[in-house]
Amino acid sequence: MTRKQIVILGGGTGGTMVANRLSRRLGLDEAEIHVVDQDNSHVYQPGLSFVPFGLAQVDEIVRPRRRQLRRGIVFHEQEVVSVWPERSEALLANGDVLPYDVLVVATGAVLQPEETDGLTGPGWNERVFTFYTPDGAESLRWALEDWGGGRLVVNLIDMPIKCPIAPLEFAFLADWHLRELGMRNRSELVFATPLDGAFTRPVASEQLGALLKEKEIELVTEFNACEVDGVGGKLTAYDGRKLDFDLLVTVPLHGGGAFVERSPGLGDSLGFVTTDKQTLQAAVQPNVFALGDATDLPTSKAGSVTHFEAGVLVENVVRFLTGRELATGYDGHANCFIETGFHHAVLIDFNYEVEPLPGHFPTAVGLPLLRDSWVNHLGKLAFQWVYWHALLPGRPLPFLGSRMPTAGKDLDLAQQA
Ligand SMILES: Cc1cc2nc3c(=O)[nH]c(=O)nc-3n(C[C@H](O)[C@H](O)[C@H](O)COP(=O)(O)OP(=O)(O)OC[C@H]3O[C@@H](n4cnc5c(N)ncnc54)[C@H](O)[C@@H]3O)c2cc1C
Repeated sequence: MTRKQIVILGGGTGGTMVANRLSRRLGLDEAEIHVVDQDNSHVYQPGLSFVPFGLAQVDEIVRPRRRQLRRGIVFHEQEVVSVWPERSEALLANGDVLPYDVLVVATGAVLQPEETDGLTGPGWNERVFTFYTPDGAESLRWALEDWGGGRLVVNLIDMPIKCPIAPLEFAFLADWHLRELGMRNRSELVFATPLDGAFTRPVASEQLGALLKEKEIELVTEFNACEVDGVGGKLTAYDGRKLDFDLLVTVPLHGGGAFVERSPGLGDSLGFVTTDKQTLQAAVQPNVFALGDATDLPTSKAGSVTHFEAGVLVENVVRFLTGRELATGYDGHANCFIETGFHHAVLIDFNYEVEPLPGHFPTAVGLPLLRDSWVNHLGKLAFQWVYWHALLPGRPLPFLGSRMPTAGKDLDLAQQA
């Protein structure tokens, strides 16, 4: 094989993993690998859920991107302006044009708080917050420190969002935090969601809904928020319902990167890359692949998903470069730890076809699924180390292949759901 040029757009979870795995697989003599990202700060995003409660500091969850890439990978700290799929070229903000044999789009999802009326108006970062950015998580931390109690509304404006369980996790952790401070009897907690239950999938939704009830967190469903009054403390839905708040913690709308819209044929109307759900090849051209939050795939936007996709994507990039048929190996596998407070967490594991079900992961002996447990909490804490030291460097993880394991799951329940 002649030396191929592989360009990876985005140096977050997916871009870094894919670059390192390809570099291990192909070596410098076979491929020149370029990673483009607009900044040099890699955030371990699951850690953002802990920052508002003082359980993590921002500087503990951020590392330089460049240092996460193996030697020989070329890093460009530049914004991507557009891609010309017909010419197999990417244009960067400094005017550089990167030609490629293979392009991997891993530019994630973009928060769009300005798309909701009033959200970033008066009260933003004073009474209305999001913990989805390091700055937002830190501002919320100071607000919670000063908070004397009242009505705290947790809301997601609309799907899709990164990590659909993160707002739920925030509500559970807020309950714990307020109880620890002896302020729970002076506080009301409300979880307002556009979904018809606590989560997207029926079995998990029922179990997580029961946990909200147990923790006295009010669940408001089918609440499609359209307007925020940060001064008056009101969140309004399209159907006219209003929720009063003293503190609003919201997850803004998400979209794909603006450059996707400037790149002919690359994405859909939301800016997400149109991607084959099994091979991860983009629809626009055979030499374009995509993974992670940037895709339009019907699975969760999550780091675990990005990790499982990376295995299939790397295999298919190599197959593509060597003229072989692509593997249809991605099954939609997703896996999430949901912190529930009091040093406990719930674990869910599912794919395109199979709901999150009770049982154990990854085999009949393993972490309990859909059960609030201390062991799962340890799993979530350990994951940060695994992220920096195994996942990002592209080292294989025993028992964690791309496909969803079925051993240990109560599959009969899937038929009933
Ligand atoms: C609060 C929170 C909690 C979470 N908790 C979990 C969890 O518990 N478990 C889990 O599995 N997942 C969790 N996630 C989701 C997880 O972090 C993401 O799904 C994952 O990082 C997606 O990886 P990615 O590579 O697709 O995108 P990212 O890691 O976001 O990387 C995208 C990169 O592209 C770059 N980029 C974008 N546009 C451009 C451009 N035009 N030019 C140059 N560079 C560009 C960005 O700077 C960024 O570095 C959480 C997310 C949040 C916000």
